[in-house]
Amino acid sequence: MAKYIFVTGGVTSSLGKGIIAASLAKLLQSRGFRVTIQKFDPYINVDPGTLNPYEHGECYVTEDGAETDLDLGHYERFLNIFTSQLNNVTTGRIYQTVINKERAGDFLGRTVQVVPHITDEIKRRMLLLGNDGKYDIIITEIGGTVGDIESLPFIEAVRQLQWELPEDDVVVVHLTLIPYLRAAKELKTKPTQHSVKMLSETGVHPDIIVCRTEESLSNEIKRKIALFCNVKQEAVIEAMDAATIYEVPLLMLREKLDVICMKKLNISVYPEPNLEKWKGFLDKLKYPKSKVTIGLIGKYIELQDAYKSILESFIHAGALNEVKVQVVNIHSEFITKENVIDKLEGLDGLLVAPGFGNRGIEGKILAVQYAREKKLPFFGICLGMQMAVIEFARNVLGLSKAHSTEMDAQTPDAVISMMEEQKKIKMMGGTMRLGSYPCEIKEGSLANKIYRETSITERHRHRYEFNNDYLELFENKGMVASGTNPDTGLVEIMEIPEHPFFIGVQYHPELKSTVERPAPLFVSFVHAAKVYSEEKHIAKNPALQDALI
Ligand code: GLN
Repeated sequence: MAKYIFVTGGVTSSLGKGIIAASLAKLLQSRGFRVTIQKFDPYINVDPGTLNPYEHGECYVTEDGAETDLDLGHYERFLNIFTSQLNNVTTGRIYQTVINKERAGDFLGRTVQVVPHITDEIKRRMLLLGNDGKYDIIITEIGGTVGDIESLPFIEAVRQLQWELPEDDVVVVHLTLIPYLRAAKELKTKPTQHSVKMLSETGVHPDIIVCRTEESLSNEIKRKIALFCNVKQEAVIEAMDAATIYEVPLLMLREKLDVICMKKLNISVYPEPNLEKWKGFLDKLKYPKSKVTIGLIGKYIELQDAYKSILESFIHAGALNEVKVQVVNIHSEFITKENVIDKLEGLDGLLVAPGFGNRGIEGKILAVQYAREKKLPFFGICLGMQMAVIEFARNVLGLSKAHSTEMDAQTPDAVISMMEEQKKIKMMGGTMRLGSYPCEIKEGSLANKIYRETSITERHRHRYEFNNDYLELFENKGMVASGTNPDTGLVEIMEIPEHPFFIGVQYHPELKSTVERPAPLFVSFVHAAKVYSEEKHIAKNPALQDALI
């Protein structure tokens, strides 16, 4: 029988519920429990797949092809486990299921209502992952902020479960903000009191209150929160701002968040946490030996969440290489022939990001050209790989109008074109080529050196692909397909063997990078950038040769 921890949020959004949930999960996992996390989002979209990155940040894709909230990425990166379709549920998904049942006549003529029908479906899904004995503990993060109209049915479902499940099988953790008023030099507990009151009014009483704060909470403040919010003082947890999200599990360990949860869950026997690997990673992250500068060419760069998994993958790969990866965001829309050198000079590597649509495309192509010609380490992901193909077609093969049919349906040289099975699809949500597919890697290729394997699987999210009619032409001129799907022949990896490090992949390696298993492509790309940077320094100052090698 699994136990359930619910995490709600109060006062404001963006307090880092996902990180707190993932950190708690990490601690419980490090003590030997089998833990997973799921997120319930109150919006009406069936999943975040149709949301613009500006709205909701990156869309994270699971092995089984679910388009999910970016918090699932944190869960996987922290826990080193795979999540699935079941781990992210929205109001839209709940209603869709209930309405489909109603249409099928399953409610036998009864009126279908929020309570009990919607809440029953929410509860069914909240318990689902715990049904088959695979997990000891399921953590459920409730998206949104307590008091939002749209999250009420989720909170109501938690209220019902608090009574329906054995008392020691449920814990409610409420994450809140304790603002520091600089003028008064004081931490303020009132917003937290209000938010706990609001939660209590809906019948849910938190067992633990986690307080985001910029200043340490004194015992007096903790006592005050405990008194007004009706929890034990030990259950008031301080969550100070941390230098990196990867430090949060250790901060929570110090605050005994896991121990207090286990106490409520009536778990009295548990081993010491095994966090050796985690701490080893943190040490390397905190004390890098050198620095590399990577240009991230994208069109959503104003919003860092749009490239969350890529940025986290750089952190994992940087730690492994013992370098600090400084990512410089470069807006593809503003790269022109005239300024491309100014914008890209000084970088040690260039990553062209995934994306959709026409905006900023020519800037991306110019950036690829710069990296190819200057022998700067290049890494293209999905749209980034497609742009590398277009650049090569135009500037090396002489096909000056080459393009992707996504941007130019009339191009005479459609080197990137829509996948055959995509052509008949009319609906938008969940219809791309999604999730994990196998890829066979050519022996002796750069990809082979990077993965040290010839057979891999990676995750996808795209509608367009390399047009194999052009493959021979490309390969004859020096850009080769070093990875293909064994079943369909679809090109997965393109590289230029003549270049020190030039690789583009149709899939998203960033989705599988975790603290304990950094994505090989990122590790090698950062390494290539490090070598490039060292060589650059030696060229400028030959005396450095010995010091660097
Ligand atoms: N827009 C491109 C496609 O659909 C690339 C998608 C992506 O970068 N994720 O094929």
